[in-house]
Amino acid sequence: MKLYNTLTHTRDEFITHEPGKVNMYTCGPTVYHFAHIGNLRSYIMEDVLEKYLRYSGYDVKRVMNITDVGHLSSDADTGEDKMLKGAKREKKTVMEIAKFYTDAFFADCDKLNIKTPDVVEPATNCIPEFITMVQGLLDKGYAYIAEGNVYFDTSKLEEYYVFNKQEADDLAVGVREGVEEDTAKRNKTDFVLWFTKSKFEDQELKWDSPWGIGYPGWHIECSAISLKHLGEYCDLHCGGIDNAFPHHTNEIAQSEAYVGHPWCKHWFHVLHLNTNTGKMSKSSGEFLTVSLLEEKGYNPLVYRLFCLQSHYRKSLVFSWEGMDSTKTAYNKLIAKIAALDLNSTDAVDTEQYDALHSRFTDAMDNDINTALAITAVYDVLKAKTNDATKVALIRDFDKVLSLGLLEEAAKAAAAAKAAKAAAANMEFVITCETPDVDEVFKAEVEKLIQARADAKKNKDYAGADAIRDQLTGMGVTLKDAKNGVSWVKG
Ligand SMILES: [Zn+2]
Repeated sequence: MKLYNTLTHTRDEFITHEPGKVNMYTCGPTVYHFAHIGNLRSYIMEDVLEKYLRYSGYDVKRVMNITDVGHLSSDADTGEDKMLKGAKREKKTVMEIAKFYTDAFFADCDKLNIKTPDVVEPATNCIPEFITMVQGLLDKGYAYIAEGNVYFDTSKLEEYYVFNKQEADDLAVGVREGVEEDTAKRNKTDFVLWFTKSKFEDQELKWDSPWGIGYPGWHIECSAISLKHLGEYCDLHCGGIDNAFPHHTNEIAQSEAYVGHPWCKHWFHVLHLNTNTGKMSKSSGEFLTVSLLEEKGYNPLVYRLFCLQSHYRKSLVFSWEGMDSTKTAYNKLIAKIAALDLNSTDAVDTEQYDALHSRFTDAMDNDINTALAITAVYDVLKAKTNDATKVALIRDFDKVLSLGLLEEAAKAAAAAKAAKAAAANMEFVITCETPDVDEVFKAEVEKLIQARADAKKNKDYAGADAIRDQLTGMGVTLKDAKNGVSWVKG
């Protein structure tokens, strides 16, 4: 399987430290607000990657952190604590905010068919691990204390800008643009491992440490949680592309300095979801959440399809028009599947199965090309093979795509069956459109119309036609309606 690696800038053969086993880490959400659908694009694509690794036979252990402390509003250790900001906004405690938005995040994931990772670890559970790691970095000479805070010393590394060597100067600009320059730092790129000199007097969450009462920096969280649950070798680290610098760069710096050898082989980054006006964020433009999609009448799985139709390494532009066309495509796809015999017990045509199946795996093995994997689903529907083979293939592909294809198709088929039954049970209504018709005559006509309907129901079409002729002879003209017949006496 070929997978693009941000570290090498090439599509590498995916190789793990221990054959057959994948230690996978995902940077989790900072739980101070609802996730916007731009963040969720990353989690959808990472979910597909995880499921495809399992599908390919790997034993995957996936770990995700929950950032409930230490993430400042600028990634360069400046600005306000995001959690505290959320708590102030909603007049709740930081832990109440964390609980509420963690639950909201997983509820959204559920609606998007995103599997919960094997281990979900809130940062506040791991304070002793952070302290051990920071102390280890101090002992090894990779960290220093200045004005009460503990900093990582990036000048001690042979290489710091691991993801983009050529653009080191550009990346440094991002750091310099931080609103407040931290004068305690020895180098511009140094970052905080432990804050004791908090600029937030009302900081709720703080812990005792060898360096005084304080709280951990954001980056140390992922390194320590990964080491805690996955050991010294991580195979695959995932996140949105905006995590690459400074967050992942700093994670690599401190993890490798701490363990003393290369740490994570493979880095998987998902590109941004943009709007027509630029990158989607919580602070600019319409705040797009899963709930908003539902309010506007979209099944959240339509958004999942919207993401899968595009490659994870391309920026994706969100628009309501795009969602509308995806909704139409999704409904058509479901209708086509619903038209198959979903419970067919026929034998699967193995030759056809294998040929169609390899179209799917070829697409996924080629850097998780989900757009082509979706095309493979359409190929199955168009193929000249029996329904049992088609249903078996769709069931198999959807283990990875998780678009609810068979579940939604079964619902659609059941709804169609119910509608048909309702139509069949509809009362047969006979309406006379001519005023003041003699009652005896009317009763005679209605009796004949009913007899004709019964004949039709029993597929006695000749009998039905004979009754119609008899009625014509009586001067009666019939008009068939949806739920009965109307007639006029001419
Ligand atoms: Zn992280």
